[in-house]
This record gives sequence, structure tokens and C-alpha cells, in this order.
Amino acid sequence: MMPFHVSLSEEERGKIIEIALERMVMIDNKVYGLEDNTEPEAEVDCESKIKSCRAVCCTYAFALTQEEAKQGIVKYNTERPFYIARETDGYCPHLDRATFRCSIHDKRPLRCRKYACPQDNRL
Ligand code: SF4
Repeated sequence: MMPFHVSLSEEERGKIIEIALERMVMIDNKVYGLEDNTEPEAEVDCESKIKSCRAVCCTYAFALTQEEAKQGIVKYNTERPFYIARETDGYCPHLDRATFRCSIHDKRPLRCRKYACPQDNRL
């Protein structure tokens, strides 16, 4: 028997994500909610810290917002939608391993933009 492949159009894919998001919002409104994007971004001097921290923040697991999941720019974990994807080395797929820079810096998730490592007592 031939393997069965399903190919979804962008519209179909968007609809499936929308339905999944609606269900997840019902389950946990806080995690997948529409977040306030009016607060300023965290100011962190990554350049001076990156040699010692090696972008450990880019290994943290967090949920994307509804907008981010719908936009489809940020890769998410297919086994745990809509948490940000992590690769086998633990890092985000959007992290350039050679430079430790974010390859989607201008479009990075809200939680990345608001994270301030100097205030994180886990470090
Ligand atoms: S999106 Fe960019 S800043 Fe956010 S975890 Fe991934 S590499 Fe790091």
C-alpha cells in the first residue's frame, strides 16, 4: 500500500492552528492569551554577557502568544503546541550556534523581548 501524504494549503493550516488555539485558550487562558505588547522591551547588554552565558535563555521553554502561533514565524514544538521549539541540543532552532545571535531578532517572541537575565535569580 502506498503511503498516504496530506498536503495542507496555507488557509487550511491557518484554520487548524486557529481551532487548536481556541481550544487551548479554553484550557489555559493565561498561557496562550493575547498579551499586552505595550510594555517596553527588556534592555540587556547581550554582547558583553554572551561569552559566559552562551545564550542559556535560548534553552528555556515558554508558550507563544496567540498572535505568534498564528503568524507562523516562530517554530513551535509539535509535541507540545504552542511552546517554542527546542532542538536536541536544547537550544532554540532560531539561535545561530556560531554567533549565539537570534536569527529572527526583529520578529522574536514577546517573552524573548521582555526577558531580563540580570533579574533572573536562577542565573
Ligand atoms: S527566538 Fe531568538 S531570542 Fe528567542 S529563544 Fe529563540 S533564538 Fe533566543
